[in-house]
Amino acid sequence: MKLFTVGPVEMYDSTLAIAGRQIPYFRTAEFSDMMKESEDLLKKLTFSEKDARAAFLTASGTGAMESSVTSCFDVNDKLLVISGGGFGRRFEEICEYHGIPFAALRLGFGEILTADMLEKYDGTGITGLLVNIHETTTGQLYDVRILSDFCRRNGAYLVVDAISSFLADELRIRDNGIDLAIISSQKALALSPGVSAVLVSPRMYEERVLTRKSCSYYLNLATHLKDMERGQTPFTPAVGTLIEMNAMLREVYETGVDSKISKTAELGKDFRRRLSGIGVDIPRYPLSNALTPMLFDGNAQAVFLALKDRGMTVTPTGGDLKDTLLRVGHMGNLTADDNRSLIDGLKEVLK
Ligand SMILES: *Cc1c(COP(=O)(O)O)cnc(C)c1O
Repeated sequence: MKLFTVGPVEMYDSTLAIAGRQIPYFRTAEFSDMMKESEDLLKKLTFSEKDARAAFLTASGTGAMESSVTSCFDVNDKLLVISGGGFGRRFEEICEYHGIPFAALRLGFGEILTADMLEKYDGTGITGLLVNIHETTTGQLYDVRILSDFCRRNGAYLVVDAISSFLADELRIRDNGIDLAIISSQKALALSPGVSAVLVSPRMYEERVLTRKSCSYYLNLATHLKDMERGQTPFTPAVGTLIEMNAMLREVYETGVDSKISKTAELGKDFRRRLSGIGVDIPRYPLSNALTPMLFDGNAQAVFLALKDRGMTVTPTGGDLKDTLLRVGHMGNLTADDNRSLIDGLKEVLK
């Protein structure tokens, strides 16, 4: 079975070899050194400030989203949520659940986020902006510059869920004034699920994390960031996934983050070229390199099942788009040959 999914994705043999080993005890100097190195590598790969910090949570991406929102904001804030799909809506639900006031900039399917849309919120007292920079539900990649400009002119903190974008698209934290970024193990890192990293700018750490009282004991970023000063986590983490992550971060750093991103981009371009050859349409908004959304005429679910029968799992879409949209992932251990097989499969299924 080949996974053309958006997470978990096809894992590399090097990662699978690590995943098959005994988990070591972790309250040791060796584990701490490894964690400090992972923090440093993550900061370098995201072009973060020298004094930025990282926390490693044993939680899926949503846990890190909730941890970030509740450790940095409270009832006295007014957040702006870019809500263009399922993950944007999740940020809205987290705010709603915790009683944090917010406005939602909702995009209909196919609508492109523009600077004009943001201008409407200028001077309305927004203190933080929450965005899934690649809204994985649709494949739209938002322009980080317009979000970053908005935050600069309004004095708002910029929180970026980069879970499905890290290593697939460029992510420059410092240049774009990103105050907090979230990354997860099961997307382009192609690791086991279960670990999410939160990168926090010095400004966010000092002005927010240290001065707000998180409503959660387990997900309190202050506790996690404090413990990371000695390379430790407050609770037993997914040790195995953290070891996989360290090895992968090293590898990406050695071969270069730009080359990793361009490999994913090339794979995506190759797939899109082949797709246009068989007459399947792609939405017109700007796309992340992580995946290609494909438009169908009401038969998306049938196509998904028929491909799965042929040993190829693409990603179905939930909600309103379930009959019209399938997504093909380009992250993880995939090649142009895999693209070719999937296109052949699609051709057969659509006949
Ligand atoms: C995958 C993903 C998440 C994480 O979802 P979980 O199921 O909680 O791991 C969050 N945001 C985006 C944009 C994602 O693609």
